[in-house]
Amino acid sequence: MPDSIEILGCRLDLLDAATATDRVLDFARTGAAAQVVTLGTEMVVLAQRDAAFRDVVNHAALSLCDTVGLLTVARRRGATLRERVTGVELVERLCARAAAEQVPVYFLGGAEGVAADAAAVLEARFPGLPIAGVRSGYFAQEDIADIVAEIRTSAAQLLFVGLGSPRQELWLAEHLRATGCGAGIGVGGSFDVISGRVRRAPAAWRRFGLEWLYRLIREPRRWQRQLALPYFVWLITIERFGLATKKGT
Ligand code: UDP
Repeated sequence: MPDSIEILGCRLDLLDAATATDRVLDFARTGAAAQVVTLGTEMVVLAQRDAAFRDVVNHAALSLCDTVGLLTVARRRGATLRERVTGVELVERLCARAAAEQVPVYFLGGAEGVAADAAAVLEARFPGLPIAGVRSGYFAQEDIADIVAEIRTSAAQLLFVGLGSPRQELWLAEHLRATGCGAGIGVGGSFDVISGRVRRAPAAWRRFGLEWLYRLIREPRRWQRQLALPYFVWLITIERFGLATKKGT
């Protein structure tokens, strides 16, 4: 089995959470400005009509499997991935290691106070976690230069960006190098979950791949975004039967 596969034109690296954590920490330490994408089904759908976004995904240092939809397709193609790698899990694993190995982390994203609360929760769980800085994710375009400078001066090596997709992927593609961080990861709404503002679906729902339904019930305004899911199934089906036309770049 190869290390990665392509799903509807998007690269997916077949790494479990433990291996992904090792790789991200290596990037963080070596200062390579490596962008890590936690690839979701909705993102693959967006990539069908947005070539720039697709390029960002495909040029990332790592593209990890964040959703059950992608996991199912990967397994059907013979991948032995045991589980998906969610943003929350990656943040937790990375912070455990960052505390042990003294890698400074920066949290950017979420409503006012959310990143700070998430960082505090993680620091309590992983004593000694070097928190280089926190900053909310609602800012104007003209603030970006200051934010980048602030991250650079903080000497952070690992940057978590929770601005939602595709905003966080595009932000990292444009600014990660200037922050001086070795690795930057788009983590969606992970700070909301870690800070306790948003509850994750109960384990049983997650096990049966129903997190999307749980989120839909709790946040009905997401219904429009979730139309991406049946559309994804449709695209995979037509691709399988060779009916899809090759997208231009
Ligand atoms: N967010 C942000 N700035 C923005 C828009 C959104 O920091 O301009 C945050 C929002 O507060 C939330 C996260 O981005 O914490 C998006 O969460 P969501 O669960 O929607 O992530 P997705 O499913 O898009 O990855």
